Amino acid sequence: MNELKDRIVMITGASSGFGKEAAKMCVGLGAKVVLGARREDKLKELCDELGSDSAIYKATDVTSKEQMHALAQHGIDTFGRIDSLVNNAGVMPLSLLEKGRTDEWDHMIDVNIKGVLYGIDSVYSHMLERESGQIINISSVAGKRVMPGSAVYSGTKYAVRAISEGLRLESSGKIQVTCIYPGAFKTELAFSIKDESMLEALMSRGIGDIAQPAERVAESIIYALQLDPGVSVNEIVIRPTAQEA
Ligand code: NDP
Repeated sequence: MNELKDRIVMITGASSGFGKEAAKMCVGLGAKVVLGARREDKLKELCDELGSDSAIYKATDVTSKEQMHALAQHGIDTFGRIDSLVNNAGVMPLSLLEKGRTDEWDHMIDVNIKGVLYGIDSVYSHMLERESGQIINISSVAGKRVMPGSAVYSGTKYAVRAISEGLRLESSGKIQVTCIYPGAFKTELAFSIKDESMLEALMSRGIGDIAQPAERVAESIIYALQLDPGVSVNEIVIRPTAQEA
């Protein structure tokens, strides 16, 4: 296993859920983190807790290419480099296609696909120049299987899977690429579902009862971060044991 001590890890979507838990674990293991999300107050609170020597932040909307680049540059200016990127920010406003919630479709595409691409773009040339680096993308089990209501969300997460594989092939030998596919875990993600009937349908399937703590997914991010540079675990599927699909 590769030590995380003094590793510089940039994490998007660090104001809650997996991103926040991964940031805490990274700093606990000696890494320095560069955190982005829109809610600046949450990022500030987290960085105050973790210590400004180890954790810095910048309010960042991943749908803005300029803001993503500014986040990476903030990390490079402060710590000298970005070793690893965790492309984690995402939203999941599930609904049936017949509802025509096109603004939500646009938003999912912008955050879940373009946000991941802008994240890659913000560090890729920096990593290629150094001939080393690591990019971890967070997809979903919905990136391997479609359910009624998940057509667009799954579309975005299938895209993350395709982008991860393309990145792996194109950067071969230089950059470690891991795509993580979580099942149901307890985070704020379900709050992004605005269609009441969809939320009720999801809850009636007992998803809330079997969902496991966010820390379990953060541990899988840490596992990927600790891989020896000569090795890449390209896919990790992590579900509650009780989750079927
Ligand atoms: P949370 O809702 O707790 O966290 C989502 C994070 O994304 C927040 O920090 C949020 O911060 C950030 N975010 C959302 N929109 C933007 C934006 N436009 N710009 C920057 N940051 C943004 O959910 P999770 O921790 O669960 O989600 C993390 C990832 O895991 C997502 O990609 C999600 O799709 C994926 N996932 C989650 C599963 C689960 O069961 N929880 C299952 C499968 C995949 P802010 O609002 O401050 O901007």
